[in-house]
Amino acid sequence: MRKTIIAGNWKMYKNITEAIELSNGLKRELFKLDFESTEVVLCPPFTALAEVAEILSESDIGLGAQNMYWQDEGAFTGEVSALMLKDAGCQYVIIGHSERRQFFAESNETVNKKLKAALKHELTPIVCLGENLQERELNKTFTVIQDQIKQGLIDIDAEQMQKVVIAYEPVWAIGTGKTATPKQAQEVHKYIRDSLKKIYGDDLAQSVRIQYGGSVKPENILELMAQPDVDGALVGGASLKIDSFVAIVTKSSEVRK
Ligand code: PEP
Repeated sequence: MRKTIIAGNWKMYKNITEAIELSNGLKRELFKLDFESTEVVLCPPFTALAEVAEILSESDIGLGAQNMYWQDEGAFTGEVSALMLKDAGCQYVIIGHSERRQFFAESNETVNKKLKAALKHELTPIVCLGENLQERELNKTFTVIQDQIKQGLIDIDAEQMQKVVIAYEPVWAIGTGKTATPKQAQEVHKYIRDSLKKIYGDDLAQSVRIQYGGSVKPENILELMAQPDVDGALVGGASLKIDSFVAIVTKSSEVRK
């Protein structure tokens, strides 16, 4: 059985005061959750990581960053390393989010470098994959996903792969209010799992968690989670409010696979 994982990507929202308020509220509301079966991760902006880490330290909620650089230190103005994220209290890091690919020229190659650095420093990477609208309309979804897997996972062995979480996020569904239908999500999740099977074998492929991301809301989480290959969600907009994120987490935790 794969443990459900729900992560909240706060993007470039929440100053320190607001981040403290939100994480305190989530900790309060989620303290009764069965964390044995459901993993919850909050990914605030860099500036709020240390404060949120302090709040989460006496809880079972994990802390993640939204990005990192692959070098440990150096003259890389504006960048933040895996070591710095660990120092700030992170256990997770999102890698290759489509907004980073779209606005900051990240590629499968940079994803691969970041992934290796995250694993080296024992951060759990949440690696984002997904096609844009044009690619979907041109029936290129599987080709794009195949390239992202093959190139993003170069030189990642089976032992390392066990620690990786994949997030399938169709770019056309992120922040647009358009969710992939459960059938569309399942189809790509299965494709990802089958591709992992070809590289790493069935046992490993069956153990990797694949989250869905793209306009996840309390209203659609149950039907997405009901799909056999959907193991959780990467939530943007709906993770910014206590009520909606708690509802998503609680509903997900009720789905047993
Ligand atoms: C995301 O930020 O990864 C995301 C899926 O955003 P949203 O839920 O707002 O579509």
